[in-house]
Amino acid sequence: MKSVLLFTLLSVASFNYAQSYFQQEVNYKIDVALNDNNNTLSAFEEFEYTNNSQCALDYIYVHLWANAYKNNQTALAKQMYDQKNMVLQYATDEEMGYIDSLDFKVNGETVKWELDGEHIDIAKVFLKSPLNPGEKMTVSTPFRIKIPTGAISRLGHVGESFQITQWYPKPAVFDANGWNQMPYLGIGEFYSEYGTFDVSITLPKNYVVGATGDLQTESEIKFLDERVKSTQFKFDNKEFRNSKKVGSGKTEFPKSEIELKTIRYTQSNVHDFAWFADKRFEVLKGEVELPHSKRKVTTWCMFVPHHSNLWKESIEYINDATYWYSKWNGDYPYNQVTAVDGTISAGGGMEYPNVTVIGNTSSKMELEVVIVHEVGHNWFYGQLGSNERVHAWMDEGMNTTNEIRYIETKYPDNDNMTKMMGGMAKTIHLDHLSHHDMSHISYETTAGLGLDQPIELHSADYSMINYGGIVYSKTGLVFNYVRDYLGDDLFDECMHHYYSKWEFHHPQPQDMKQSFEEVTGKNLNWLFEDIITTTKQIDFKISKVKVSENGTDVTVKNVGQINSPVRIDVYSKDNYKGTKWVEPGNKKQTVHFIEKTIDEVKLDGNKKMPEVNRTNNFWHKKGMFGKIEPISFEFGLGDNNPGKTQIWWSPMMAYNVYDKTMLGVLFHNQTIAKNKFEYALMPMYSFGRKNVSGFANVKYNIIPASRFSMISIGVRTRTFKNELASFSSEYMVANPFIDFQIGKPKAKKHFKQSVLLQGVHLFEKTQTLSGTIENKTYGGFVEYNYRFVHRVNKFNAKLKVDYLNQATNNLQLSNLNAELKYEFEYWDKENKSIELRAFFGANLFTSGVAHSIYAFSPSGQSGNQDYFYDNYLVGRNRTEGMWAQQRINNQGGMNTGSPFGNSNTMLTTFNLYATLPYVPLIGFYSDLGIADISGTTEVMYDLGLGIRFFEGNFAVYFPLFESQNLLDAYQDGATYGQRIKFVINMNALNPEKIMKSAF
Ligand SMILES: [Zn+2]
Repeated sequence: MKSVLLFTLLSVASFNYAQSYFQQEVNYKIDVALNDNNNTLSAFEEFEYTNNSQCALDYIYVHLWANAYKNNQTALAKQMYDQKNMVLQYATDEEMGYIDSLDFKVNGETVKWELDGEHIDIAKVFLKSPLNPGEKMTVSTPFRIKIPTGAISRLGHVGESFQITQWYPKPAVFDANGWNQMPYLGIGEFYSEYGTFDVSITLPKNYVVGATGDLQTESEIKFLDERVKSTQFKFDNKEFRNSKKVGSGKTEFPKSEIELKTIRYTQSNVHDFAWFADKRFEVLKGEVELPHSKRKVTTWCMFVPHHSNLWKESIEYINDATYWYSKWNGDYPYNQVTAVDGTISAGGGMEYPNVTVIGNTSSKMELEVVIVHEVGHNWFYGQLGSNERVHAWMDEGMNTTNEIRYIETKYPDNDNMTKMMGGMAKTIHLDHLSHHDMSHISYETTAGLGLDQPIELHSADYSMINYGGIVYSKTGLVFNYVRDYLGDDLFDECMHHYYSKWEFHHPQPQDMKQSFEEVTGKNLNWLFEDIITTTKQIDFKISKVKVSENGTDVTVKNVGQINSPVRIDVYSKDNYKGTKWVEPGNKKQTVHFIEKTIDEVKLDGNKKMPEVNRTNNFWHKKGMFGKIEPISFEFGLGDNNPGKTQIWWSPMMAYNVYDKTMLGVLFHNQTIAKNKFEYALMPMYSFGRKNVSGFANVKYNIIPASRFSMISIGVRTRTFKNELASFSSEYMVANPFIDFQIGKPKAKKHFKQSVLLQGVHLFEKTQTLSGTIENKTYGGFVEYNYRFVHRVNKFNAKLKVDYLNQATNNLQLSNLNAELKYEFEYWDKENKSIELRAFFGANLFTSGVAHSIYAFSPSGQSGNQDYFYDNYLVGRNRTEGMWAQQRINNQGGMNTGSPFGNSNTMLTTFNLYATLPYVPLIGFYSDLGIADISGTTEVMYDLGLGIRFFEGNFAVYFPLFESQNLLDAYQDGATYGQRIKFVINMNALNPEKIMKSAF
């Protein structure tokens, strides 16, 4: 009853909404000729535009997207530049493209038109008299297109292979929100008006064409059918093997015939028209019967001969995709589906109505996935024409939902992800990762670091990683979880309802929500509001399991941020005994199972829920602590397997000059997804110390819903051998810390802030001639870090205040360290950059006798100055020999090996580093330092050459010139070798740091 009432209320609401919905109609007729000598198109277009809105229109916006390729200032060029793609920035005139020869007429009369002030790929066409509601007009124009190179984006040619997409003048969508004019972009695809197309293409006779629409030209149908026969003949007679020999694995283009042909296509109820032409294409033809109407659809695959092995079964992929998408969403409404083989820079593939272009793939499975995905866009973009630039998830994400389901249906035991990862995957325990896992890992990689973005976001606001990991992957996961919750039948009913209501229209997110709520009778705010519009995370745990005479009561607690349904699976002696869903509701809910012999309970047992923390999903009767999963030791690393507590291990070997060789084992629980609680232990036997050295780190990560991307609390401890003066010592240090990572990622403003509070407690025992000396030091620091990345330029500011109390020597001190760094590219094509750095260090107070190891070092701290023991050093306290030249990348940062006197009061330095043009890795440096050394102001300077790897975390610096005071500081006149400085920053190899820096 309740659901019926809700249904009625919603129907009334939907009726009101439907009244305000309108949609314009555009019917095109285009005649186009390809000139493959100079890569141009000459065309004439006429479209009939119907104004179905309640407004009179004085002008219309028309997209001229071929102009996106005209220069390096277009929106496309800028977006590519932001992604560090320099193709359009440095394209030659020959490689660029544009549209010209336009002459807009409305109802036969020339009208005024102009290019948009900001975007040259948008035109505003003024009407002489307003187009009133309900009226039609005819707009016509000739146009010429210079076809750009296919290396840039989707419109282009690769040799004489032509991909004619997003090419003709096309009105922008006018909807309830007004005009939706938009420049062409690589990311953030379509929004177009529906209508009919009647397109005639003239080109040399021997081209094979794949296009939108139904082919109307009899002679061309024959031409294609003959191609199909010859292709089949070649497969039957294994002739394709020979084709590999031609050229370098590629097939040469045959000469274009002088004679031309004109072929005509028509199609209704589509919002775009694309065509692809290649003289080399082999052709396969098939047919698929639709599941509901039993209507037959013709399927075509067109590919170059050197891809024939890969494409041999392509008709099967396209047929299956058409069948399953029709079954789950609604029958395919058109007569043909075509997939063409192409080399587009957009990668993967690209969808157009009826026809999709498939980029290079490396395996049949990958080809199938891409074909299925692109064919699937006929539903999510083609038939349901959402505004993809604003709600990209409505097509990319819903399409991925179906793609995941397709692979799961056709290949239930697939290990697609493992296959993609190659041979290594098996050895490191990633041997069971499916297509679904691929999406899960892609989502949890960023969500685990708190660096994900919501599903509902304007496509321009995504970071590159999140566009894939969220818009595609997370949406795909979320709706497969919803399908698991609703069951296939009810989910399919929702999709069919949504599809039939919005087919050939422009649905918005609320329209989809309404369709789902109408069918299910459920309130789905948790889905369409919480999950889709926020980054809040789902996390449930089993809080209690009570097995008694009456059955089993499972109490589930919602410890996450979303009030969504959760699935409970119960088992008895490894046998599955049943599933129940806990509906959204109270934080703690108890579900009753009649089974009395339950010994295992799993939340989300089939791993369908987009949950980042799966470690609390398990209860086992025999387990020591009940809720804790059985422990298993596994080699290497892997993904988190619910049902087991995995401890990953691997043998380790390490070295430093005091411990000598160390052999041991690393134990950790790092998985691909980040765990809330993390540990890493590395006990090693030290041959130099004849004892156990190594480290033990633990950390707990919190990801709040807003403001902070992550807060980590933990402690790092380590013990190694050392030497003080010539005496042997051993130390043990503990660094408790709390790290606040502030801010969420944004596409345009890549700024990050963090605050790190870290303590130090050092205990060092030195054996001297007169006995054992114990050194106890404690203290800590607070460090603020600000980083701003704009395109290729980076700005970094660090401020650090520390405090140290060395109880043994009765010394207390506090230092201030400030660092500013700015890096910009002076030659972006070759990634050549200049880094400017300034450092200022000042002692805030000292009580007791100052010591040089706590002083500011012009060339960065050496091992014995690392008084917080933050760095791994090969020769921590070495003052001579090679390891004394290892410097930490901090403080003065001068690239000199000079042990020049350190300042206990003040140090200022300016550093410049420029990577040299034309040579890889090598850079030029110059430094200037001013230090207060015991009351005297010293000025020092140097210049030289450096070799840097991995952002300077590994580097060697060769001086060419050093000021006299630097040279004088070397003992007994140093050899050139001793003047070389090197940096090895092992801390930079931390995978978490690498991941974070990708944002
Ligand atoms: Zn897609």
